[in-house]
Amino acid sequence: MKCFTHQIDSVGICKSCNKAVCSDCAIDTGRGIACSEECVNEVNDINVIMDKSKQIYGIGSSSKLPPTGILMYLFFAVAFTGFGIYQTIIRERPDYFLFVMGAGFLIVGGLAWFRNRKLNLNC
Ligand SMILES: [Zn+2]
Ligand SMILES: [Zn+2]
Repeated sequence: MKCFTHQIDSVGICKSCNKAVCSDCAIDTGRGIACSEECVNEVNDINVIMDKSKQIYGIGSSSKLPPTGILMYLFFAVAFTGFGIYQTIIRERPDYFLFVMGAGFLIVGGLAWFRNRKLNLNC
């Protein structure tokens, strides 16, 4: 590929506008190559956005705790099942609705956990 402005061999591609740049045009931002001062600002913005979304999705997080979303499902599963057992004892007949709800939350939570593991997310 040739440099976008100089028609000589390029050394890289601007991380912001994807134009090919030669060694004269390329500005190393530290985390990607930019072709101009405007693109340096853009590249810095992209890096900030990447860092933020990494935090949001928990990529690279060292936390060993299960994600809060899945903890919520687990909490509801335990709450519904517990309340179901309580109602079963009080009324002396099984409260199927609460057991089904509890099992449903457990399944949905399990699926969410499995999906997160597969996609390497942590949310
Ligand atoms: Zn550029
Ligand atoms: Zn150039």
